[in-house]
Formats: sequence, structure tokens, C-alpha cells
Amino acid sequence: MKRTVCTYCGVGCEIGFDPVEEKVIPLKEGVVSKGKLCIKGNFGHEYINHESRIRGTLVRKSFLQSFGLSPENFEEHDENFVRVPYSLAYDLTAKKLKEIKEKYGRHSFAAIGGARTNCESAYLFQKFTREVMESPNVDNCARICHAPSLRGLKETVGEGAATAPFDEIYNAELIVVIGSNTTEAHPIVSHRIIEQVRKGAELTVIDVREIGLFRFAKHKLLIPFDSNLLVLNAIARVIVERELYDKEFIEKRTVGFEEFRKELLNDNLSKPETFKKLPGYEHLFKAIPELARDIARKKTVFLWGLGVTEHTDGSKAVMAIANLALLTGNVGKPGTGLMPLRGQNNVQGACDVGMLPYYLPGYRKPKEIGLTTPEVIDAILEGKVRALWVMGEDIAHVHANQSKIHGALQKLDFLVVNELFPCEVTEFAHVVFGVKSCYEKTGVYINAERRLHLSEPLYTSELPDDWEVIAEVSKRLGKDFGFRTSEDVWNSLREEVPKKFGGADYKTLRENFLNAPQWPVIDGKGTKILHREKFSTEDGKGHLRFNPYKPQGMVKELLEKGEFSDFYLTTGRILLHYNNANQTGRCRTLNKFKLFKEDVVYASEEDRERLKNAKRVKLISPYGESAPLPVEFNRHIKKGTLFVSFHRAKSKVNFLFGDEADEFVKTAKFKSIKVKVEVVE
Ligand code: SF4
Repeated sequence: MKRTVCTYCGVGCEIGFDPVEEKVIPLKEGVVSKGKLCIKGNFGHEYINHESRIRGTLVRKSFLQSFGLSPENFEEHDENFVRVPYSLAYDLTAKKLKEIKEKYGRHSFAAIGGARTNCESAYLFQKFTREVMESPNVDNCARICHAPSLRGLKETVGEGAATAPFDEIYNAELIVVIGSNTTEAHPIVSHRIIEQVRKGAELTVIDVREIGLFRFAKHKLLIPFDSNLLVLNAIARVIVERELYDKEFIEKRTVGFEEFRKELLNDNLSKPETFKKLPGYEHLFKAIPELARDIARKKTVFLWGLGVTEHTDGSKAVMAIANLALLTGNVGKPGTGLMPLRGQNNVQGACDVGMLPYYLPGYRKPKEIGLTTPEVIDAILEGKVRALWVMGEDIAHVHANQSKIHGALQKLDFLVVNELFPCEVTEFAHVVFGVKSCYEKTGVYINAERRLHLSEPLYTSELPDDWEVIAEVSKRLGKDFGFRTSEDVWNSLREEVPKKFGGADYKTLRENFLNAPQWPVIDGKGTKILHREKFSTEDGKGHLRFNPYKPQGMVKELLEKGEFSDFYLTTGRILLHYNNANQTGRCRTLNKFKLFKEDVVYASEEDRERLKNAKRVKLISPYGESAPLPVEFNRHIKKGTLFVSFHRAKSKVNFLFGDEADEFVKTAKFKSIKVKVEVVE
């Protein structure tokens, strides 16, 4: 039996695999999966041998001609691309990168990606960019998901990662889930939540729609769009005003309480009474104090998703969640914790190994800060960035403001893409390297609880790993890092970041695959709960940070007019699919489901008449339009609000969003946009 880790969400379930039967075998001893997998874990490997897999290197004909080579001498792939040997593609890539660097300077190069591949590839990608191309411009898809969690947690508890393992849910008396449709997006974590509720724990769900977990919740906080920070500040206010906080914890473990208290109490909006002024949401005036009391009394874990981070005040909302944990002593002990539910299987790892413009591996400060992905797009349009290398991130689909991104990609002098399948971004590429998938290679993936899984290949493949492509191009640019195996790359990272990874050699990780350690790993032993004695901040204290809420979107409209016009739209994933569906969309079992075929707009039953009982609608925002999409009405969506998934590029959902983003880290505001609805059918 082979053992690997699921390639989809940040839960990181362990998977056993019978290569003869080509069948997944649940691993009961797996500390994360406990022998349970969601449908993506069970069938999401079926894309491996799909006929459209990129098995080789595709080079754009015009690019080949610019080197005086004739496309006719190569096998035609389609009207734009020919297939060339890897060695030639490495040569041409190196030549073009050298030419661009010499002509436009080192800042003209940017690298994006790393969250869908292993730590080794993400580590070498940033190393190549910083050391060979001498550019600080590295980023990964945390930019569109949990970069605000990193920022918010760094500022408050000093470490941008979950403070405790998912298993601490089993020790919690209260579980607070905010902005996470856990049953669909992180199913194996939702199993733990439901199990614990059945054993007697209480659940609070805070969301803009009635998600699946609502039916298990004691506190069901259906909140207005754009109101996370307002709600979280109001909970903190009740805790402070009624002196429900943990005095001893605050005194011994935190700094800034007096200032926090003063600022919070001076902020009139943070009074629960504010919700009396928001028609349709008056129930929160009563619900918030009840929840505040429970958080203060019970061992509480806080879990959140992109419903928190993908807003203009996402980082501030994460700080507000950390404030609640610090005020009530609900961090650094069993049954408590702060758990950002990371989206991609290795997004935690990509950040840990330095694939961020403002952190080197191990979150050390770089000498020079690079551009975030949205800034790279602007720099391309300004002619400053001329060459871009994208590794496993379909930036022409999954990012916001796609009209702008498509325009920028067209303008590039050189675009290199490492991918498994043709997708939106490969359409713009000059060179596409077909690479191994997660299920075909060896490497380390770090899940949302900091756990280091060493994944082994389920299938053999002649294709290179991402890091091998980078290493080959690097050699041709005069720098041989000397890495011959993925273990060599990992060991280089361990030497660079000994405090987190020093004790985690391949042997240890292989032997402990089923109970893999969480970083920091010292002498082979991991760390389950962070911040037990002191926080990871410079002074070892938890820092309370108050950020006042600024009315926006739906809240602003309700406060000013008592009503809102048009519709507020939020987006998210469905259980069967994963982000751009590049992989899940090519799995035969997953494709049997009707729901899988198109992105569906969900609207309130109460809006059926207003929407003329539509079957298909087009969504229109100030930035763009979606394609005509099927619409379904149900009672779980509040009147005047909509939900849509974004899995299919042809749905053009991400054309609806503009440049509004988190004010600190530029994570796009995907979770609230005002749209008009045009009935098509
Ligand atoms: S919960 Fe996430 S990691 Fe686990 S099987 Fe499902 S998609 Fe894979």
C-alpha cells in the first residue's frame, strides 16, 4: 500500500492507495483523517490519467520563431503550440529570462505559486527568484485566501498559523465557526465538529447564510454582509463591559488591555444596540451578549474561513477573533485555540517556506519587500514586470478583476506556466511545462494545523517535479543549487529554518506519517499546541489590538437608509469541486453528479417573484458580468442576497470583482459585492 496526503483542501487527510486496484484505502490510524475521507479524497485522484493531461512541454509557435526555430520541425499540439523536448524548453526559458533581466532589470521578473505543490518546489521557487533572478517578487495563492490570517495572527499572537490541532475540537465545550462553510469546504473538520456537538459541546455559527452547520448550532448568528468586524467587536464589548474576561490570563499573558478597553468602549458602533438599527438583523442585539457569556465561560475553539478573510477588513477581523481568545484565555491550552481553515493542501507550507513577498523562509524579514500578486498585475500593465512564472495557480481564473488580469497577461513579454492541464492561464503562456501531480511525487505538505506530511507517489511518472524544472532553468542561468532529490531540497530548507523544521528529516516524517508532527519540530517531536507558556511575539505576550469597524456595503446602506437596493452576492466552494476544477472536473466519479456541471446561483425563495421565477440569470457588477448561470431558490439564503460558486472559468464569476481588497495584505474582497440581476431565461 502507498501512502499520500489528499491534494485538495488544507485539512490534509492521509490516504492509503492500492496501486493494483487503483483504489483509495482509508487509513484509520491517520491522525487527521481517522479513516474518513470526503468525496474529493476518495475519488479526486481520478484525473491522473485523463487524456488532456499536459505530458511534455508546450511552446508557443511565435515564441519558437523568435529564436529562429521553425515550428514545423516539432510535433504540433494545436494551432498555437508545438511540443518540444524539455531540454530545449529549459534552454529557451533561461535565454529569455536572461535577456529580460539584462534589458529591464531584476525587478522585471515575478513568480507566483506554490500552494498546490510541495514545500520543496515552493522553497526552490522563491530561492530561484530571490537568488538567481535577484527579484523580490514572489507570492502564492494565500494572497486570495488566508494572507489576512497570517497578518492578524502575527500581530496578536506572533505566529501566522493555527495554534492547536483539529483534535482540540474534541476537548472544546464551545466551537465557534465564523465565515466557513465547513461541511462543504473542509468536510473532515466538520465531522469533528458534529461529533463533538453530539457529545454535548455547543456550536456557534456566524455567517451571512444558513450553511449546513446551522442545524447543529445553539447560537445561529445570521449576520449582514460586510459585518464580521462589527459583530466580533460587539462580542468583545460585552465581554469587557460586563467584566467577563479572564483577569489572570490578561494580566500574566497579554499587553495592551487598558488601551484596548478604552478604545473599544469609546467606539459607539461596537454596542450591540447597533444591530437594532439594521432591519432584518435585530436578533443579533440579543444573540451577541448570550454568545459573549458562553465564550467567556467555556473552553472555546475558534475556526474561520474565507468568509472572514476575503473582505477589506479581513486582517482586522482576524485580530478581532484573536482578541476574543486573548480576553477569555481561550488559547494555548487544551480545548481552546485559533484555527484558520486554510484552503489549499500546501498553502500553509508555501507561506512557511518563504513564497511571500514580505517573508523569507521561516517568516524572517527580507532585505527587500517584493510585490503582491495584485501589485504584479499593475506592474505588468505599467511595463515594469515583463516576465512572469506561474506554478500551479490559475491566475487567469481564480483571482479577482479578471478583465484587468487578462489584459495584463496579454501584455507580458514572457509567461512560463507549470501545469497539469490546459486552463485559462496556459492560454496566455509562451512556455508550458507539464509536471508531476501531487500523487506522482515525493514531498512535504503542511496542512492547516502545521502538520508535516511526507507524501509518497501513488503512480510513477516520467514528468519532472516542479522543483526539477526550476533547478534545470537555474543551471542554465549559471546557478546549480546541487539538489538531486526532493530530500536534498528539503534538507536545505531544514538548515535554513532549523527552529521550525530542523527535527523533521524525511526518515522521521516517513516513520511518523500517520501521526505526523506539527511544526516546530525539535528532535523529531512536533508541537501540538502553540503558545502554552508564552506567545511568539517579541515580548512573549499576546497583543490585544482594537480596530474600529467602518460601515460599508450592506451595513452602511442599512444604517443610512434602513434598506438596501439590488442584491449582495457572496461566493464559495461546493463539496464536489475544488477551486478552478482543473483536477476535480476531470474525475469520472465526481462528474456523475448533476450539481457538478455548472456553477449555480442560489437565491432566496422570497425573491422568486422579484426574479420572475427565473431559470437562468446574469449577474452584473460595476466591474463586469458573469455568464448566464442557472438559478435555484431556497430558504437558506436571506432575502436580497445571493450565493454562487466559482469553479468553472466559463461562468466568469471572478469578472464581477474589482480591486477592493484587504487594506493590509490586498486579499480580494470576494465575499461581498453588490450586483444587479438580469433574468436571461
Ligand atoms: S477534507 Fe480536504 S483533505 Fe480531507 S479528503 Fe476532503 S478534500 Fe481531501
